Amino acid sequence: MEIFATTTAPVSSAEFIALEDRYNAHNYHPLPVVLERGEGVFLWDVEGKRYYDFLSAYSAVNQGHCHPRIIQALVDQAQKLTLTSRAFHNNLLGQYAEFIAHYFGYDRILPMNTGVEAVETALKLCRKWAYTVKGIPEGAAKIIFVEGNFHGRTLGVISGSTDHSSRRGFGPYMPGFEVIPYNDLAALEEALQDPDVAGFMVEPIQGEAGVFVPADDYLPRAYQLCQQHNVLFLGDEVQTGVARTGKLLCCDHYGFRPDILILGKAISGGVLPVSVVLASDEIMLTLHPGEHGSTFGGNPLACAVAMEALKVVEDENLAENATKLGEIFRARMNALQQKRPDLITLVRGKGLLNAVVINDTEQSSTAWDICMEMAANGLLAKPTHGNIIRFAPPLVMTEAQMDECCRIIEGVILEF
Ligand code: PLP
Repeated sequence: MEIFATTTAPVSSAEFIALEDRYNAHNYHPLPVVLERGEGVFLWDVEGKRYYDFLSAYSAVNQGHCHPRIIQALVDQAQKLTLTSRAFHNNLLGQYAEFIAHYFGYDRILPMNTGVEAVETALKLCRKWAYTVKGIPEGAAKIIFVEGNFHGRTLGVISGSTDHSSRRGFGPYMPGFEVIPYNDLAALEEALQDPDVAGFMVEPIQGEAGVFVPADDYLPRAYQLCQQHNVLFLGDEVQTGVARTGKLLCCDHYGFRPDILILGKAISGGVLPVSVVLASDEIMLTLHPGEHGSTFGGNPLACAVAMEALKVVEDENLAENATKLGEIFRARMNALQQKRPDLITLVRGKGLLNAVVINDTEQSSTAWDICMEMAANGLLAKPTHGNIIRFAPPLVMTEAQMDECCRIIEGVILEF
């Protein structure tokens, strides 16, 4: 039997796209670029054209594409043992748990695979803590979400979402979630009056919503309010974590660590789906055998890859680089905004998680057209919510490369 049923193997980008379009679900709307190779900050398409990557697989590839140390760890471990399931112990899980717990400063970890699985895990953990520690009557626990959030797209998680495209057509939704405005301490304080509130789920910067950075006092004050009301602060740092915003965690800018920390994406350098939930003994030990798990969570391949990926973050000072290059990027983009206020309304972000807001409606194609023009000039970025372009390159970028990238973006914007 032939492995490939296709009569002719695709060669051009157009053929690859047509094939995908014919057989794959239409649940994404990608830029029409077909990539086949990556190295550091660069990607190459099937025609051999080179691009600067300014999305980093939604901040999963912070360490750069195919980082040699991470790939070596992958290959070495893949030749020994990849998966045991949790029916047995493996020789890396304990070492991995200790490494991750110490790296981020928590008592314990719960390993999962994708970001949204880690979010689901955190929600379950919060509910379990509510019933077994806080003493909320079984079935009554509430978790507060904020408007504009993005935590993934499982049924549980979209039940706390306000995004029509991920919600509409998928009801009924899960009860026990309440949604309040983002960046609104008064709304949080009011919601926390309810004694059945168990947790507050928040992204420190709303990435998918368009890189919304809250007021400086929002997160530390929200954390304090949660503490006062014996409510767990659930920090979703799947996108903001692992040096992206110029600190190991975005919450580090504000001097606190979430009660339940959710990480994914870049903890494996984008090499494998690896996610993790971190918490104290008090919270984590509410879970008992059989109550939660995943066949692949904590597999030895993931453990080896993620440990190496996190060592790279430290050894290559990626947080410091994100801070330095982020300042350069925003200074250049703000100067550009002054030259084209008709086209750019705002530049915002932290570290190397930034966005440029295009002066047009969410329904317009302006941001998309700008991204197409940037792609033609060798730089890949993608609009989020129609009129916002997110700029999030791998954190291994050099200053000279950043200068060249800014020149590409400036050229496109000034001529647009
Ligand atoms: N949480 C946040 C903040 C995210 O940005 C994302 C993905 O973009 C997720 C969760 C979901 O992660 P995954 O796509 O790996 O399930």
